[in-house]
Amino acid sequence: LKRDSSVVSSPPTAAVVAVGDELLFGTTVNTNGAWLSEKLSDLGLHVVRQEMVGDRKDQIAEVVGKALEGVEVVVVTGGLGPTPDDLTREAVAELLGVRWRLDEDLLAGLRRRFRSLGFETLPESSERMAMIPESGRPLANPLGAAPGLAIEAQGGRLCVLLPGIPREMRAIFHGDLSSFLLDRFSRRLRPVIHRTIHTTGVPESVLAAQVAELLPAELLPAELAPVTVAFLPDLRGVRLRLSTRMGNGDAGEEAILDRVENSLELALSGCRYHAGTGDLAEALGHALLKAEASVAVAESCTGGLIAKRITDHPGASRYFRGGVVAYANEVKTGVLRVPHEILQRHGAVSREMAESMARGVAARLGAAFGVGVTGIAGPGGGTAERPIGTVWYAVGSAQGLVARKEIFLGGREAIRERAAQAAMNLLLRVLETQTS
Ligand code: ATP
Ligand code: MG
Repeated sequence: LKRDSSVVSSPPTAAVVAVGDELLFGTTVNTNGAWLSEKLSDLGLHVVRQEMVGDRKDQIAEVVGKALEGVEVVVVTGGLGPTPDDLTREAVAELLGVRWRLDEDLLAGLRRRFRSLGFETLPESSERMAMIPESGRPLANPLGAAPGLAIEAQGGRLCVLLPGIPREMRAIFHGDLSSFLLDRFSRRLRPVIHRTIHTTGVPESVLAAQVAELLPAELLPAELAPVTVAFLPDLRGVRLRLSTRMGNGDAGEEAILDRVENSLELALSGCRYHAGTGDLAEALGHALLKAEASVAVAESCTGGLIAKRITDHPGASRYFRGGVVAYANEVKTGVLRVPHEILQRHGAVSREMAESMARGVAARLGAAFGVGVTGIAGPGGGTAERPIGTVWYAVGSAQGLVARKEIFLGGREAIRERAAQAAMNLLLRVLETQTS
């Protein structure tokens, strides 16, 4: 895996600057910034910073100027229109000492556009949209009046100005801008390749510690071995994202990612699942199909969430029998036939209850596997013995019963989400051990 440094060229660096008071007030979310970062990375540039700045000429010039000191390409979005608060063009012109020239084609196009919109003459304020830098070029805007601009700056750097209106910005990017960047940087472009590994049931900190121990040292983030590992946690689990750039010399990118992935096997066994949608319920569906088994669910605190998650996937009828939301104790004892004695001796939130619910629902609905979940989602109902977040969940089948207790953290929503996920994960692991 040793690579010759001469074949590994570094990708062009880029920065994204979004202009607009509304972004700083928080009334508009800077989706343009995220979108541009993603597309520039896909193209093979290395985006190293993102900035937001208000509609002030001096501040726009300062931020763009700083960005240009550190990277090869600065892409600015917003403030390119004809209204007085659109100052990006002026700010950058002063910063870079741009000399403008009138582009007759652009002007003619603007006039045609205005006439087709029913205006006799082009407003003077719009005429400046036909001015382009002497050292630069316009980037056609198929959806609006203001073209984008690519301006050459000192030291071979490039400053690109795009409108703020998202659909116009995207249209320019997909058209003139991406072909311009592809031409200009060609062989230096190194798109990022990601590989996502889905895990559930292991906290981020535990997973991170195990991963750090297992990663081959030569593949850790470094100048010539740029595999980065990101941990992306949410309520349902932690996604592990491995990233590398194209153009790693002789060793192929996929091979490098394979190598890292294989080295992590030990940390991932028991918590990894495979699903195109990223949803554990999809992986569970695959496992049930493989085992030619069916499942039924008895849910108390999750209120039908598991049934919902399972049936989110088309074709679930092949393995999902149905579910009972057994919220009231009478439903647990009546419909699921949980013995009264369990309720009296152990309570509604207990191992015995979860197991009996799992057994009961499998028998009543004719499924090979039953899942039972009972717990305290809060915000009321907690005791010292059974605090809020206490959940018992069980899987039952002809092969026997497995039950787990956990105390999930968070509010009602988080507890329910985590409980549903944990119960599905338990069934998945039971299926895996039975079919392996
Ligand atoms: P125009 O030619 O219409 O004047 P512009 O280049 O001046 O366009 P702005 O006036 O800054 O762009 O913004 C136009 C609209 O585009 C805003 O009302 C906002 O809804 C949206 N917009 C601007 N910047 C962003 C951004 N960074 N992220 C998402 N939306 C944005
Ligand atoms: Mg505007």
